[in-house]
Amino acid sequence: MMKILYEDYITEINECYDDYKNEDKLSTVEAIARTLYDFEGLMYRSETEKAIILIFYGQLIVSEQSRVLVNTRDNLLEKLNSIDFMTIKQEQKLTVEQYDELQSKFNDVIEKINRMPLDTCRLARWYYEELVEEVNRYFLDIKRNDMNVEQIIRDIFSRFNRDCNNTLSEKMIVYTTLGELLISHFFIIPEEILAEIKSFNINDTKDQLLQVEKKQLTERINKILGNQTIMDTSKKKTTKAERHVLYKAVKDFCEKGNNDIVCPRCGKKLEFQGNLTSYRISCEDGECISLTARGL
Ligand SMILES: [Zn+2]
Repeated sequence: MMKILYEDYITEINECYDDYKNEDKLSTVEAIARTLYDFEGLMYRSETEKAIILIFYGQLIVSEQSRVLVNTRDNLLEKLNSIDFMTIKQEQKLTVEQYDELQSKFNDVIEKINRMPLDTCRLARWYYEELVEEVNRYFLDIKRNDMNVEQIIRDIFSRFNRDCNNTLSEKMIVYTTLGELLISHFFIIPEEILAEIKSFNINDTKDQLLQVEKKQLTERINKILGNQTIMDTSKKKTTKAERHVLYKAVKDFCEKGNNDIVCPRCGKKLEFQGNLTSYRISCEDGECISLTARGL
């Protein structure tokens, strides 16, 4: 009977956290915060339950989060220090082994949380690396052979809509990672996405990112923008529809080494030189149509 209470709580707390993370797709920080919120009401039942909930909540923080907010840490430490282990003994809800385990986990949480790096931004839900990974992982989930740019963008933004609206850094991490995914799958990044990336100023993210993360995000953005310097070197400017045909041909040349697409203006053969990031594509009639892309 007593044994069941302890084991049940541990199982339920972990399941609750897993559900928030894997089913509701929340970030680590948010999934842990919601888990505590769900169990908080049960802490008033007994000192034993309070201790189990707080200690396993603390365990999630020290094992799953890479940083912790000062406030979260201080609140947790204050509550942990209010746990009365004498009362727990008197309540007799735990076996000797469980009591010992709880106490050793208590010490473990206190020791580890004091050594954790601190977070300063209260608003960001995702860690930089975590969000990059999540966007990439989600892309693999939705990836199909016949998918087009519009579908990819629609899917990514419906999945990460909430996060894009949360902080600027989260929004830009999603846009940047999406841009990289499009480039690596031979798609051309649509103007509206590029415009958002171009108008972004890293300083506006304030304390949302670490210095090293700001540097990395800036480098990734510059690479995307550099990759997308496409010049229309035709005598007569190409239309959007013509450029689409040329981009498709570039993709064919890079993927298959050849293509059956003909010049969208005159129907003659297309010539290609270079690779995905730097190339020149033109009509065999040199006067007709041509595009040049200069990558980094
Ligand atoms: Zn032509």
